[in-house]
Amino acid sequence: MSDSLPIIENKNLAEFTSWKVGGAAQYYCAPRSIDELKQALIWAEQNQQPVTLLGGGTNVLVSDQGVQGLLIHTLDYTGISSRIEGDLFIVEALGGTQKSEVLKEFIKQRLRPAIFLAGLPGDMAGGVVMNAGVGHDVSPKEFCDIIYSVDVLELKKDGQFEEKHFKKEEIAWSYRKSKNWQPGVITKVSVAWPNEPDDQVLKEVREGNARRKSTQPLNFPSCGSVFKNPEGAHSGALIEKAGLKGFKVGDAQVSEKHANFIVNCGKATATDIDQLIKSVQKTVKDKFQINLTNEVVYLGQW
Ligand SMILES: Cc1cc2nc3c(=O)[nH]c(=O)nc-3n(C[C@H](O)[C@H](O)[C@H](O)COP(=O)(O)OP(=O)(O)OC[C@H]3O[C@@H](n4cnc5c(N)ncnc54)[C@H](O)[C@@H]3O)c2cc1C
Repeated sequence: MSDSLPIIENKNLAEFTSWKVGGAAQYYCAPRSIDELKQALIWAEQNQQPVTLLGGGTNVLVSDQGVQGLLIHTLDYTGISSRIEGDLFIVEALGGTQKSEVLKEFIKQRLRPAIFLAGLPGDMAGGVVMNAGVGHDVSPKEFCDIIYSVDVLELKKDGQFEEKHFKKEEIAWSYRKSKNWQPGVITKVSVAWPNEPDDQVLKEVREGNARRKSTQPLNFPSCGSVFKNPEGAHSGALIEKAGLKGFKVGDAQVSEKHANFIVNCGKATATDIDQLIKSVQKTVKDKFQINLTNEVVYLGQW
């Protein structure tokens, strides 16, 4: 094991996930710099361990059996700076930087990205992986609308590192998905917007926060929307129409407030949540012949 980057065995992950469920990582580390991140990747390569990445843990279901290999947690891999370049206001953030930190920069400048970033949990890398955004009509509304560039670190088979730099248009963006930057670890995310301050921004941020508070069960552990919306429909509406609001497996429950949220009522396990997910999918399929696909990402042994 490395001298400078502690690699911890059998580290419980539940506390790092917004659902507060899941087992332990066989090996765990939290690099604070690009050098430590490189050390982690080399350690995994030398010890023939698979690598799993965890950011804010707000869109993952970690298995009760835990995660084999090395889990790299980017919570301490943070840093942010901003600048004006021509007509653009650009914010550059290391992958583990919370979205809320970037939100603050846009609020200070009174720029529109603040409106959709408000209330979006997790870090910047997670935002890119998921192409996170909001469902209602607002511009910008998803990560792909504000991305300037994305930096990715890859350890190649020959033991050399490749530091890849992608412009927004080199990444394939779709609904809650991004492709073409893999494989690798997202190390830096730069976002940009025309530097045209708008006095309505703060008001709309407040309205967005109030909307989330009134429509989402924010007082319970969850991962936000569990299912993607099928073409032309809303998963929440379908689940509600199927009569599943309040339906429980163990301590996992389809939220009474927002049917596309599954909440942990206290002692839910990842297995409870997984069974509830499958049960909701089956009921919706039986009733409406529609397949609900997961927005949430499964990590570990399933
Ligand atoms: C209350 C609540 C509300 C939410 N509302 C929304 C919403 O309105 N819109 C929305 O889109 N989402 C929403 N989400 C889901 C979630 O917050 C977003 O998908 C978020 O962008 C995930 O970021 P994260 O840092 O938590 O990623 P994580 O959950 O930690 O990871 C997500 C995926 O990214 C991978 N990953 C993490 N870091 C890296 C890295 N550095 N390099 C490569 N891969 C990496 C992980 O392996 C995993 O596959 C909500 C969640 C909650 C709990």
